Amino acid sequence: MKGVCRTCGKEYKGQQKTICGPCFKKARIAHGIVDKPRKVGRPFLPKGQAKSYTLHTRVTKEETQQIKAAAKKANQTISKWLRERILT
Ligand SMILES: [Zn+2]
Repeated sequence: MKGVCRTCGKEYKGQQKTICGPCFKKARIAHGIVDKPRKVGRPFLPKGQAKSYTLHTRVTKEETQQIKAAAKKANQTISKWLRERILT
């Protein structure tokens, strides 16, 4: 079945609709039924809060295992666990 979109006038394949897919999406956004698609990716952190520096520390295999285990036990990421230990 073919129809003609009442909004853009293009022919489209569909059933019992009077509006094509892209126009339907636009209309939903225009009427506030759905939010505009958001930008992909994590939003930027405010200045000063972004973690932009990396420190490298050599540790032994055993120390790595200890750190990993401790972070896991504390239910934290390794980075968070280390930061909290170092800065307090
Ligand atoms: Zn259309």
